Amino acid sequence: MQLIKCKWCGRSFQSYGYNFCPKCAQELDEQYKPVRDYLYDNPNATIDEVMEATGIAQRVILYYLRDGRLQMANSSGLLRCEQCGAPINTGRLCETCTGKVEERIVKPLQERMAKMRKQEQKQDGGAGSRMYTYQEERFRGRDR
Ligand SMILES: [Zn+2]
Ligand SMILES: [Zn+2]
Repeated sequence: MQLIKCKWCGRSFQSYGYNFCPKCAQELDEQYKPVRDYLYDNPNATIDEVMEATGIAQRVILYYLRDGRLQMANSSGLLRCEQCGAPINTGRLCETCTGKVEERIVKPLQERMAKMRKQEQKQDGGAGSRMYTYQEERFRGRDR
């Protein structure tokens, strides 16, 4: 347990691993449902329309979008990719940057796996051919 500053209101509180103080966490939870319900009925609504209909602050709505809990067909350009600044509708990165991250992290991993598999095959092949030679020698020896 440690004393940290709430990422929402900046007040210090005893954290059990949460980023938000209990009050903010509860408020964020309570405000989630109306936004989600409104977007469910109006998937093409803009953030302005959601704010007007639900009375919930833009900052809260953007938080849900960044968190990936909500998705909007039209984020009005308010939500932007953290890497390149392109407008996005959910999460933190645009599709291009998500792809780049995958290329940077997933691809090298796949290449390493492929290399390891190749090495294993090479080792198997080596053992196999050794065994073959051994049997061949035995066979020849018996023949003689
Ligand atoms: Zn707080
Ligand atoms: Zn981007």
